Amino acid sequence: MKTEIMNNLQQISEENLVDIEQAKERGQAIVGFYCLYSPTEIAVAAGAIPLPLCGTRNDPIAAAEETLPRNLCPLIKSSYGFAVSDTCAFFRASDIIIGDTTCDGKKKMFELLSRQKKTHVLQLPQNQNTEMSMSLWDSELERFKEIIQDTSGNTVDEASLRSAIRLMNRERQARKALMDVNKNKPALLKGSQMLEILFKIGFLADKEKGISFMEKVTAEAQKGTLLTDPPRSGEAKRLLLTGVPVGLGSDKIVKIVEQLGADVVAFENCSGYKQAFTVDENKAPMEALAEQYLATPCSVMSPNDGRFELLKEMIRGFQVDGVIDLTWQACHTYNIEAFQVDEIVQKNFGFPTLHLETDYAESDTEQLRVRIEAYLEML
Ligand code: SF4
Ligand code: SF4
Repeated sequence: MKTEIMNNLQQISEENLVDIEQAKERGQAIVGFYCLYSPTEIAVAAGAIPLPLCGTRNDPIAAAEETLPRNLCPLIKSSYGFAVSDTCAFFRASDIIIGDTTCDGKKKMFELLSRQKKTHVLQLPQNQNTEMSMSLWDSELERFKEIIQDTSGNTVDEASLRSAIRLMNRERQARKALMDVNKNKPALLKGSQMLEILFKIGFLADKEKGISFMEKVTAEAQKGTLLTDPPRSGEAKRLLLTGVPVGLGSDKIVKIVEQLGADVVAFENCSGYKQAFTVDENKAPMEALAEQYLATPCSVMSPNDGRFELLKEMIRGFQVDGVIDLTWQACHTYNIEAFQVDEIVQKNFGFPTLHLETDYAESDTEQLRVRIEAYLEML
């Protein structure tokens, strides 16, 4: 069953490129997104297809370094490298790219990226709790709506927004239900399997296909048919991975953890539980979107208390033994916040976090292995 599920995932990922091509032929606009702060619902409401963009592999970084400084987060360099080397099918298919003023490196990169493709950058406030932030964000989302209407040639109204919110809520609920199968002890899916499924599903243009696939995997996992061979031991240490986004190609920490006989049972980052939210379907749609998206608990916000609350809830819910806090090199916001994450975890749960700073290259794999092994022994 495990092989069948993964083959099925491979098949729908391959069909996805055809789905995108056919959607373009039908005149549907494709909107490429770089960050979790941008409400994809507005694109869906305009009949457009929202797609995430490539940025998790090391290969295109050399191309990026011809223009960008070397001492920059690998996620930014990889994203830019994919774009300038024209090696990301989703970037190529996009009619417009949407970025946000999150960290300094990313917002400056978007200025250069706009030379490759039409790019719109949302002016994201740096604080979630003031009236000024919310009013700026409200007006940014209204401007975003106008731009998406122009790009797609379709009008976004209350009914189309409500229907888009319902669809995207169903998708996020399916993601959450899937991630929650690893609340079981032992975990019902390996962390690397979970990461691969969530990563590939994220790129699907046909949201219904993604939802039904995730529901199928969740049901199979709950029956125990996806257990690894040999089954995970109940003794395996259960880890939560927090910090920067990870995906296929930037998943070396997950692989090392598994090679050492432990499990990553929970992902708090952007590719994981940060996406497990629900937009309020009872409020005025634009207001509900503005509130929910601004509340995204990322380290680019100051303060970022939402992340600490989410971490506490997840550490309890997934019954984890330890927390790895991952920072990409030159990511100042996650790097500095690591101090508070460790402080909060120690105070509430009595164990320290393991803070790792690395990039996408494999050169430090052995050093990372030694540090992770020592951490597992200490837990
Ligand atoms: S980590 Fe923060 S800035 Fe980066 S993609 Fe996620 S929400 Fe956006
Ligand atoms: S990981 Fe950090 S530096 Fe890199 S894009 Fe995200 S917030 Fe910016």
